[in-house]
Amino acid sequence: MDRHELVFQRCTGCGAVRYRVSPMCPSCHSFEHEWIRSSGRGTVYSYTVVRRQTHPAFPTPYTVALVEMEEGPRIAVRVRDHDGGEIRLGAPVQLEWEDHPRQSLPVAVLD
Ligand SMILES: [Zn+2]
Repeated sequence: MDRHELVFQRCTGCGAVRYRVSPMCPSCHSFEHEWIRSSGRGTVYSYTVVRRQTHPAFPTPYTVALVEMEEGPRIAVRVRDHDGGEIRLGAPVQLEWEDHPRQSLPVAVLD
């Protein structure tokens, strides 16, 4: 069973939270870090509507949002139950998890 949690690296030298994972902090070049659990809260920074189906598990149209997480990093996630209408930039979202046969995926749920 997957843990259903999103974690980020945080530099213990300068406190910068980074995504993607890397051995060295791009801000202060420290190799020291810790893992922090994301609150799962964020806001819509941008989004796009996918209209061409590439996998049977994801019928189109669906929306993929670039979500700015409360901790700072931006991640791309599908928006649950949203089929292509407009989304207000800055709209709050909460991440939830969907279980698929080989992995769990985060999805954004509009508040
Ligand atoms: Zn740093």
